[in-house]
Amino acid sequence: MDADASPSRRDPNALRWEALRAWVLEAGLARANLFYTCGVLAASMSISGAITWLAGRSVATALAATAVCVLSVAPLTGYVVLKLLYELERSRQTIRQLAITDELTGSFNRRHFREVGEVELLRARRYGTPLALILIDADHFKRVNDTHGHQCGDVLLREISLACRATLRSTDLLARLGGEELAVLLPQTDLAGALAMAERIRQEVARLALAWRDETVEATISLGVAALRPEMTSLDALLHEADVALYDAKRSGRNRVCGARWQTAAAGVAG
Ligand code: GH3
Ligand code: MG
Ligand code: MG
Repeated sequence: MDADASPSRRDPNALRWEALRAWVLEAGLARANLFYTCGVLAASMSISGAITWLAGRSVATALAATAVCVLSVAPLTGYVVLKLLYELERSRQTIRQLAITDELTGSFNRRHFREVGEVELLRARRYGTPLALILIDADHFKRVNDTHGHQCGDVLLREISLACRATLRSTDLLARLGGEELAVLLPQTDLAGALAMAERIRQEVARLALAWRDETVEATISLGVAALRPEMTSLDALLHEADVALYDAKRSGRNRVCGARWQTAAAGVAG
């Protein structure tokens, strides 16, 4: 936990806002709104009454008094209400971002990958558009941890993720599925396109040279590629085919791209 977050070291203004927010939340919307309305009404009537009383009871004075009232009360109350609204919206955005992001790599997390994947699969099946998937697994990562330490492994994993992201198009979705395994969903991409993209990613990662203490740590990845076929009705079917291809890439020596076996044969592409 952040030591600076202790109440005694926090900005007094922030504490006041927190107290106000807590009070509003505890009161409930209806009661808080009633208190708020009564407050604005009381303030407006006091100012308006005071001005009218001081300057006589003409219509012009009453209008001026009302204008002064509104101009003095509305900005203050509006500020309070809008500030709360904006803070709430910012918090919602932060929570949403945290809910879909993988903490270590900054890429999307598994849950978001599945959510988007299901939607893209439905879209691709409905409109008959291509959809491809690349599964990525870092090679001999246990060895990296054992040789250079887990912290180095974490940094390297982040670098691998960044290298992948730098290669992708804005419509592709990169996620960390878990451990040292990443996935890329490529809408509007057929098998040949996905294989070419996977090869670019492989080369980009192979170029990494992480300076760690007095050493240079390098990384390679293996990649399995599959494309959606008409008979595939679930994301798991696509994942399974890419996983088999990834296994082929591992078995045949690592640091390489393999396409789903019968797909590459049927499409006549090298994989
Ligand atoms: P292979 O080439 O067959 O994939 O070998 P590998 O060593 O990468 O595979 P294995 O499944 O045997 O081990 C995966 C390793 O990845 C072990 C685990 O400690 C490491 N790993 C998984 N997640 C993380 C992580 O978040 N940070 C770090 N530093 N290491 C991780
Ligand atoms: Mg693995
Ligand atoms: Mg691995």
